[in-house]
Amino acid sequence: MEFLEGASVIGLLANEAKTQVIGVSAQIRKPSNDNPIADYPNGETLSELHADLVVDASGKASHTPQWLQALGYEPPQETEVNAFVGYTARIYQPPSNASVDWKLLFIQPNPPQDHRGGAIFPIEDNRWIVSLMGGDRDYPPTDEAGF
Ligand SMILES: Cc1cc2nc3c(=O)[nH]c(=O)nc-3n(C[C@H](O)[C@H](O)[C@H](O)COP(=O)(O)OP(=O)(O)OC[C@H]3O[C@@H](n4cnc5c(N)ncnc54)[C@H](O)[C@@H]3O)c2cc1C
Repeated sequence: MEFLEGASVIGLLANEAKTQVIGVSAQIRKPSNDNPIADYPNGETLSELHADLVVDASGKASHTPQWLQALGYEPPQETEVNAFVGYTARIYQPPSNASVDWKLLFIQPNPPQDHRGGAIFPIEDNRWIVSLMGGDRDYPPTDEAGF
């Protein structure tokens, strides 16, 4: 297996009949051991990377639909599952007499009955980040009174 760092895939390569994806084209932005910067005076180059199988793992910003369209294909229909989760956080100074025996306090929501959760993370200067979360549009407050 080979990892290519600092490379952005910018499109799919197809065979002449455009019936098969045969790789990707990529922009190499920075040097790696295999691609020393000296080879690329402008600091970047285009590469064609050939492959038997291309897996898009680029997350929710994937350009595969547009790239397939550029090859003349209908982009696949997308299914979106939105849990309508929100979370907010505030920084607090714990009471001076607070004595805790945990490093992190985490209250896990238990959907679908219970949408709410929260966490306390001790941070530097003896302060706590207190984070609240809610799902299914049960969004947590952002104001002090709500917390
Ligand atoms: C602030 C925040 C907090 C989160 N907290 C949690 C949590 O506590 N628990 C949890 O389960 N999930 C959490 N998530 C969600 C979680 O991060 C995502 O669901 C998960 O990372 C998705 O994984 P992925 O591999 O599909 O995509 P990503 O992690 O987005 O990975 C995609 C990768 O592809 C690369 N890439 C994109 N386009 C290209 C391209 N054209 N060429 C080359 N590379 C490319 C990106 O640089 C990235 O490295 C959080 C997300 C955010 C933003």
